[in-house]
Amino acid sequence: MSLSLRWRLALWIAVTLVVTLLAVFIALRFTVQRVLNSDLDGRLSDHAGQISAQVVVAGSLDSANAQELVDVMPFPVVIRDADGSVRAATVGLELQDLSLEPTELSRVLQGEVIRETGEFGDEELRFRTSRLSVGRQVVGVVQVGESASAVRDVTRALQQVLLAIGAVSVVAALCAGYWLARRALKPIGEVADVAREIEASDLSRRIGTRGKAAEVQQLADTFDAMLQRLHDAFQQQRNFVLDVSHELRTPLTALRGNLDVLLMDQQLDGDLVAQLERMSAEVARLIRLTSNLLYLAHADVGRDVDRRPVDLETLCLEVCRQMKDLKPNVKLRFKTEDQVTVRGDPDLLKQLVLNLVDNGLKYTFPGGEVTISLSSDGSRAYLRVEDTGPGMTEEEMERIFERYYRGAGSGAKKGSGAGIGLAISDWIARSHGGAITVSAALGKGSVFTVQLPLDGHDKA
Ligand code: ADP
Repeated sequence: MSLSLRWRLALWIAVTLVVTLLAVFIALRFTVQRVLNSDLDGRLSDHAGQISAQVVVAGSLDSANAQELVDVMPFPVVIRDADGSVRAATVGLELQDLSLEPTELSRVLQGEVIRETGEFGDEELRFRTSRLSVGRQVVGVVQVGESASAVRDVTRALQQVLLAIGAVSVVAALCAGYWLARRALKPIGEVADVAREIEASDLSRRIGTRGKAAEVQQLADTFDAMLQRLHDAFQQQRNFVLDVSHELRTPLTALRGNLDVLLMDQQLDGDLVAQLERMSAEVARLIRLTSNLLYLAHADVGRDVDRRPVDLETLCLEVCRQMKDLKPNVKLRFKTEDQVTVRGDPDLLKQLVLNLVDNGLKYTFPGGEVTISLSSDGSRAYLRVEDTGPGMTEEEMERIFERYYRGAGSGAKKGSGAGIGLAISDWIARSHGGAITVSAALGKGSVFTVQLPLDGHDKA
């Protein structure tokens, strides 16, 4: 499982805090213990000085009456001879816990002071062991004690308080770290959201995010600069397509006109006429292709369409006249029931019908038939282009209106187009407030239906 950046940051903050707190707490606890112990040691040193002074006054241990001396002291005392044997001790003291190892005894006799804390019965005591001297002569050893439970209680209480503070701080650090990380990363999330919303067709949008943290601003600026470059590149490409298709259309139309004029000559021989007709058909296809490219660029810039009454019957007859010789072995028929007038751009609508009929002829096998039919239901016009061609699969039908999509198709379909005709037809239908649909079955032909609002029923 991979943790989100937020949680990682929060954990890092918490771990750093735990380590720092632990170091501070340990140092604090031992410093407090040392201070309290040194205070205790000061008092123990006073106790030992008191005993020592009494012995010095008496002149020797023997004359000092050690047991009496011990009994009057308000703190636990053990007086030993120089060989380590106990001479006198406070009543009730457990002496085995205070026994001195020979090495310890010799260190003490040499002048060392030994301090230790331990449990005596149910009480915690700190003992100080030092030598007793009269003048320059070492006469014995004195062990004085003092309760150390105050030190223990204070350090324990401190430990508990520190642990509680530590636990609360870790939870608080986790929450604060998560909140901080969330806050810090939020603008990045916003940048990602905007970036996700930006589509190829909408490259004019920018992320902006002015007033955000410097790093986020840098990211947004870099992204915006990249969008600008993409926008410029797309614009250039679009302008190029616009210019080229525009420039090509005029000479191609002139060429077709000349070919048609040549074809009117009655004296031409049959072969030449056939060749000229083929040339004219190819030029017509080139004109359709360049027109599609031109309209593709128009669709990208969101061009508004003209709104003029267009008689669809006349338009379809014109298309039939233009396309009838394109594929002589496929029959092109036109059936109409009504006089159908819509409001729109005649050039675009003609291109739509040309694209559908061109596909029908292109994909239908010799001997087949393409039928254009026109009808209306009072508010909408229905233009159907039906063929007896190879049909389509469900997957193809879902994608044929996408730009540059070309069906896998059988041999008949291969190498026959650029995949933009239906995308343009779809844009034309929608920009006239209509729609285009397809129904087909593999091997059983295809039916494209364009529905458009009748003149007077369009809202635009
Ligand atoms: P193309 O230039 O490839 O014909 P279109 O956009 O006009 O591009 O069509 C897209 C795809 O839709 C075609 O490649 C073809 O697979 C399928 N198609 C279009 N019209 C027909 C039809 N009448 N019969 C069978 N398939 C068709």
